[in-house]
Amino acid sequence: MSGSLRLESSVQFVRGVGPRRADLFAALGIRTVGDLIEHLPFRYELTPVSVAIGALVLGETATIVGELRSVRTGGRGGNITATVVDGTGMCRVVWFNSPYLSEKLHHGLIVRLTAKVDVHRDMAKMTNPKWSLVEDGDDPLAGETEAYAPVYPATAALPSKQIARALRSVIHQVADQVVDPLPDSIRDRRSLPPRRTALLRCHLPTKAEDLPVARRRLAYDELLQCQLTVQLRRMKTRQCRDAPPITTTPEIDARVRRRFPFTLTGGQDRAIATIVRDLARDRPMNRLLHADVGAGKTVVALYAALTVIANGHQAAILAPTEVLARQHFAKIGGYLQGSRVRTELLVGATSKSKRAAVLAGLASGDVHLIVGTHALLEGDVRFAGLGLVVIDEQHKFGVAQRGRLRAKGRAPHLMILTATPIPRTLAMTFFGDLDVSVIDELPPGRVPIETRVVRSTDSDAAWGFVRERLRAGERAYIVYPLVEESDALPLKAAAVEVDRLAQGELAGFDPVLMHGRMKPAEKEQAFARFRSGEARVLVATTVIEVGVDVPEATVMVVQHAERFGLSQIHQLRGRIGRGTRQSYCLLMTDTTEGVAAERMRILAATSDGFRIAEEDLRLRGPGEFLGTRQHGMPTFKVADLVADIDLLEQARDDAADLLAHDATLDAPEHAALKRWIIERDPDIAGSFPTGGG
Ligand code: ADP
Ligand code: MG
Repeated sequence: MSGSLRLESSVQFVRGVGPRRADLFAALGIRTVGDLIEHLPFRYELTPVSVAIGALVLGETATIVGELRSVRTGGRGGNITATVVDGTGMCRVVWFNSPYLSEKLHHGLIVRLTAKVDVHRDMAKMTNPKWSLVEDGDDPLAGETEAYAPVYPATAALPSKQIARALRSVIHQVADQVVDPLPDSIRDRRSLPPRRTALLRCHLPTKAEDLPVARRRLAYDELLQCQLTVQLRRMKTRQCRDAPPITTTPEIDARVRRRFPFTLTGGQDRAIATIVRDLARDRPMNRLLHADVGAGKTVVALYAALTVIANGHQAAILAPTEVLARQHFAKIGGYLQGSRVRTELLVGATSKSKRAAVLAGLASGDVHLIVGTHALLEGDVRFAGLGLVVIDEQHKFGVAQRGRLRAKGRAPHLMILTATPIPRTLAMTFFGDLDVSVIDELPPGRVPIETRVVRSTDSDAAWGFVRERLRAGERAYIVYPLVEESDALPLKAAAVEVDRLAQGELAGFDPVLMHGRMKPAEKEQAFARFRSGEARVLVATTVIEVGVDVPEATVMVVQHAERFGLSQIHQLRGRIGRGTRQSYCLLMTDTTEGVAAERMRILAATSDGFRIAEEDLRLRGPGEFLGTRQHGMPTFKVADLVADIDLLEQARDDAADLLAHDATLDAPEHAALKRWIIERDPDIAGSFPTGGG
């Protein structure tokens, strides 16, 4: 026994660890005893309760505990035979072809064996049983109550079993030191066990019912931490009063609307009404505009931009790709023909002299509206008075980039457009500092896209159909998962297939190629040919995924559809169905099983972006769903954003309740909670309201 261990003690003082093994623990992020008890199992192995050998039943799988006798190695492959006795009977055991076992299994050892029971000459027999040693010093019956053996995140040098042993030896000594961050009121309201109990049960479950209760408590703590962070940050941004208040008069409204060659939809009008209210305040707008592909987000953003410009401020629209920035610029140029609003484009390919002129215009205020890519984020891009930042397709930009553009104004309003519907759970967590508007309506006259899964046996018919649509004057996208053929993945690649299609299935239609490895100018050229109708087929990789808008395109063929993600195909599919004609999405794949096949089924069954996003989150999990480019994303050890939605809602309500009564968490009953959340996320300390709140 190692004296009095504290949670802060180095893990090396835990029995059986020592300074050398401590390094192995450090590799897993475990430095202190406290870290060790926060290292949670990711699954449990069910250890069946053992039965007496005399009570074994033929044909059933059973576990026995007994002493090894007469261990012998024999046979050509090195078979091990032995008998096991436990006082009620004797069981014969054989492991085939396992010569290495002869080193480990000796006469006299106590073992636990699991296998199906057989009979040999009136004696019970087990063949190739799963085995483990009941270790010296272990209570031989300890395993009898340990129905669930925790399995820990481990390394090759530090296997889960050693971690389990270290935990077993220390947890009872230090459990009393675990402070409960939750005030009693919340624990009672949510019927949560003390944190100490939850940790004990998580590491040493004694019965199946222990686990969900323990898990729920630990997950709740993570979610409450997340909700307090999100809500504190939100309160902080709301304290800012430096944004330019924007007034929208009936004259301005009418003037802006006259710019669009159509009437705005009810959904667009509702979003605009909210945005107008946000803009009128001196508190910066922080709004996510969230609408399915083709719902007309750009138009709503432009409405906001023109209103801001009418009030004498500048607006910036940031797009994730050059193609998209150019497209926005061209489209906006069309809407603004004859207007006094001066709009410019700034992308990586902008020439030096042009760039200098644009920067001068932005700094003097002569340029009112700037459309661009990451090029806008550079240090020498300065604004006379930036009033609004619009970020299109936000999921391609990190939180840091968002902040960088914003910092170019005093406290500009911010609007983020996204076509990736954000499942409810993520909206409450990662995007919880944003207000959300949804456009739940498509422009009138849109016909739902028909989506079909096409097997290679039916591909001739499918190509025949594509040719028919092209002859009728429509346009098609053919999408491939790769640019060039690779040996590793024998997939059809866009750059190779474009020639084959031009000779074969699409002879006479002169397809053009566009992919991410082309230079921006080449890309733009290819795309321009397709947009103008000079080329009616665009063979592409996923570079067309985001925002591309060619209403005449009615057909999309996705090759190797099984290689794409659910949301990815949904985005791709949003490139068609933008006009009034029936559009078709053909998913070419021969995959009939597994997750990929499930994705195909979901896509053929629904075009509801929200449902697709929920399914995508379920199939991939939040990290994958949001992509690696999303920075500053908290990760959860226990909580599961798909399964724990109810718990998340409880944590959100509790966090709101806590902060409503004690925004700084300075009340004595909240002291432990405050300490606990700051310990886990030191940044949060700066988010508490100051100066009388
Ligand atoms: P999103 O960015 O949401 O995918 P866009 O703003 O690019 O959608 O609009 C998609 C297409 O619909 C564009 O061609 C646009 O001109 C058109 N559009 C937008 N709003 C309307 C409307 N109210 N009525 C008719 N067409 C519209
Ligand atoms: Mg768009």
